[in-house]
Amino acid sequence: MLYLNVSYEDKDKAKALGAKWNPNVKKWYVKDRKDYPKFMEFMGDDNILVLDNLYLIQGFQECFRCHKQTRVIGFGLDKYLAMYKYLEDDNYKYDRQKFARDIKLCEKNNFDMHIVGPIDPIPSKLYKLIRQKYNYKNRYSKTTHTSSISNCCDYCDVLQGDFYLFYEVDSPFWIDSEEKLEKLKIYKFNLSRDILVSANDGWSSFDELFKKHCRIKEFNIEI
Ligand SMILES: [Zn+2]
Repeated sequence: MLYLNVSYEDKDKAKALGAKWNPNVKKWYVKDRKDYPKFMEFMGDDNILVLDNLYLIQGFQECFRCHKQTRVIGFGLDKYLAMYKYLEDDNYKYDRQKFARDIKLCEKNNFDMHIVGPIDPIPSKLYKLIRQKYNYKNRYSKTTHTSSISNCCDYCDVLQGDFYLFYEVDSPFWIDSEEKLEKLKIYKFNLSRDILVSANDGWSSFDELFKKHCRIKEFNIEI
């Protein structure tokens, strides 16, 4: 199941294509994945479609302010599709056949995992769990002049910028050795529905090793 992004003007079109209305959340949705390609124009501006699972990845980083080893988190995906790959032009013309084929392939991926850093939005039940356990919260960055949900030091509360966590070679989530992999803790959550998020879908040559080398704790909490 996937919630759609349908404007009031487009509601009749979405309905005619077979979208269903959920009065509790006031959103249109499509139930079966085989019907997703029909609704690509109603999938909004988020770039990643996530199926089935979402992984929370915990690493450690030396805080630049207090120099203690603080816990930091990022997200991991195994079954996902990058939506921009299907956009043929700026008028929202999509390659629906390729998308349909890729959904089927994606459902079978049980091996590779990709670290994507922050995702937006975070499913609200998962965000509640994260807030109970980690110092991960909405924070204004003086560097980027924007507010976003960010890792903050467990000890001195200073912001741990995403760039230093995900995009530098000595970052805890820049995986280039088995030693770095072994320092990670991975938690797997089952999604009760497919979700669209904004994220950077990077990949590395170590992506096939996460599931072989890391202990993955599975939570049967639907988020
Ligand atoms: Zn600190």
